[in-house]
Amino acid sequence: MSAENAKVALVTGGSRGIGRAVVERLARDGHDIAFCYRSDEQAAAVVEKAVRQLGRKVLSRRLDVTDRTRTREFVTAAEEVLGPATAAVTSAGITRDSPLVLMPDEDWDAVLRTNLDGTYNLCRAIAFPMVKRGGGAIVTISSVAGVAGNAGQTNYSASKAGIIGFTRALAKEAGRHGIRANVVAPGFIDTDMTSVLPEKVSRDMRQRIPLKRFGRPEDVASMVAYLVSPGASYITGQVFRVDGGIAL
Ligand code: NAP
Repeated sequence: MSAENAKVALVTGGSRGIGRAVVERLARDGHDIAFCYRSDEQAAAVVEKAVRQLGRKVLSRRLDVTDRTRTREFVTAAEEVLGPATAAVTSAGITRDSPLVLMPDEDWDAVLRTNLDGTYNLCRAIAFPMVKRGGGAIVTISSVAGVAGNAGQTNYSASKAGIIGFTRALAKEAGRHGIRANVVAPGFIDTDMTSVLPEKVSRDMRQRIPLKRFGRPEDVASMVAYLVSPGASYITGQVFRVDGGIAL
């Protein structure tokens, strides 16, 4: 691939779950990859190896997306090593569930800082270089909880609704610079995040989902792959649910 049409993707939270599936799918689709993660170095090393085996270049950094400076340094380092980023995907996210009346302030802060500020931090860092170059595709990962709200998740739902507002505003603002920004809102996906659900809750949810199963991380990754591809070149500011029909 010539330097002119090289594809480079930045992914936050790329070491596990949905982010990992996005990394591997985009690598398979010909992207060199820079991803970050918070703590699990072993998981990150496995993902790095998988990307290399696919014949793509990879750079990974251990950092907390709430750290604005380190997130900016990650973006700069990624572009120095791999070249201009053509895509950015914000998948780093956490839950700290409890009813509002019992919610510790720290849990509100941690979820908003990681999910919403983390999205801002990555997008803020990459938006300017993309504007200067006149193009790029940004995909943020929200949740059906951000669309409809979810009891026991006021913090998470607020952060994920914030991501939708943020992405739509960015799409309106940056479209003139050739930048597209879209949201993927997953339903229940089989990852470590949902593995903590009590068995009964998990069983009841599966019953409520028309497709009768939780999604696979790859189900979300294929939507992300489409949204960063030329096939989606006239799509921006949209929210795509990948939820097995749970909202029907
Ligand atoms: P996961 O399996 O728990 O993986 C989370 C990833 O994010 C890990 O790579 C983790 O790194 C990283 N991460 C977490 N906090 C971070 C931070 N402060 N800085 C940098 N990296 C951080 O989660 P998942 O289920 O794949 O979820 C991915 C995204 O999809 C999240 O935004 C989540 O809200 C959203 N989502 C998930 C579901 C679902 O059912 N799973 C549904 C809707 C939306 P370490 O392992 O190193 O900590």
